[in-house]
Amino acid sequence: MPGFELFGDKEREQVQDVLDSGVLMRYGFDGMRNGHWKAKELETALAKVMRTQHVHLVSSGTAALTVALASAGIGAGDEVIMPTFTFVASFESILALGAIPVLVDVDDTLTLDPSAVEKAITPKTKVIMPVHMCGSMADLDALQQICKKHNLLLLEDACQAIGGGYHGKPLGSIGDLGCFSFDYVKTITCGEGGAVITNNEAYYQNAHKYSDHGHDHIGNDRGAEGHPFLGYNFRISELNAAVGVAQLARLDEFIGIQKRNYTILREALATIPEVTFRRVPSGGEENYSFLSFFLPSEAVTQKVHQALGKNGIDACFYWYNNNWHYYRKWAHLTHLTSLGKLPKDVIEGLPDYTQADFTKSDKWVGRTISCLIKLGWSEKEMEARSRIIKSTIFECLK
Ligand SMILES: *Cc1c(COP(=O)(O)O)cnc(C)c1O
Repeated sequence: MPGFELFGDKEREQVQDVLDSGVLMRYGFDGMRNGHWKAKELETALAKVMRTQHVHLVSSGTAALTVALASAGIGAGDEVIMPTFTFVASFESILALGAIPVLVDVDDTLTLDPSAVEKAITPKTKVIMPVHMCGSMADLDALQQICKKHNLLLLEDACQAIGGGYHGKPLGSIGDLGCFSFDYVKTITCGEGGAVITNNEAYYQNAHKYSDHGHDHIGNDRGAEGHPFLGYNFRISELNAAVGVAQLARLDEFIGIQKRNYTILREALATIPEVTFRRVPSGGEENYSFLSFFLPSEAVTQKVHQALGKNGIDACFYWYNNNWHYYRKWAHLTHLTSLGKLPKDVIEGLPDYTQADFTKSDKWVGRTISCLIKLGWSEKEMEARSRIIKSTIFECLK
């Protein structure tokens, strides 16, 4: 998955442009910049790739989620539905606005289960936030229908799914708002960075202002700008954007390599009757950044995961016992451990996460192994890896 694996002269050239002009900020300093507007350039390029009207870059994927929610007017007391299998950024961005994260089960797509979503809706629900984890997507048709029926916003967290598609449209471009991360381990990296995409002019206008202290960005002189509302600083720097300009140009190449390596592993594992694969909703096209599969029981899955490690296979993850992506290992989340006191209203509005029952999610995630697909692996290396993974699974199933 990571763009940092294939990193070189193109990125260096772009960054050098910025260093030569000396303007590291995306706004202002028009006279000094020698025509370099890397953030704008990357926004234009990403809008083309995503086939959306508006793209606004920010400092991270977490910032993108926060800005997207804020730009749609989400705030105190609003409920946002998010999955149990995600990155903790989903929870953080919702809570940062005083809104209420409502955790909901995932199904065999390893993303939001539409029937569980429907059950979680209350009069306070404002947003459904599917997270397209590990390169594959939620059942967006079903979620869109639910949104329509209950008048809710659909916000796609596509941070791990750039390059994937759904009924011919790029992931991230299907909901009212879509978010991407360009941190160091994502398919495309800026070092740090993120993006909000939308076809909604009002959300876009809010997003660029909110992420820069509420500045309206009208005119050339920053000192004369108005502040229509309070914002924050979620700006991306020109240096980070410059790296992204070079990386985004290579997206198709990256996805192509991922698809080749993914297919080699998938074909090897498909010959094992006990192995089943994560369900990809019909019409969906993964970005092939991970291959995720199910084993018959939690015990076997634990055994396979351990044996893979012993046999020298890194980068195959058992999220159920790993503290990156599953609510089960997030005691700081379930216990709301925060540095300062959280606002009283927020605390009162939150469900008791320690009492939640996510046995349906456990049933799937407890049997899942996700193997990262690296860009740096040659066909030969991938074949060798696949043979070891396959024989390890066979051994454990005996
Ligand atoms: C990485 C990631 C984020 C956050 O992105 P950062 O750029 O690291 O802040 C959010 N959601 C998901 C699913 C991610 O994988």
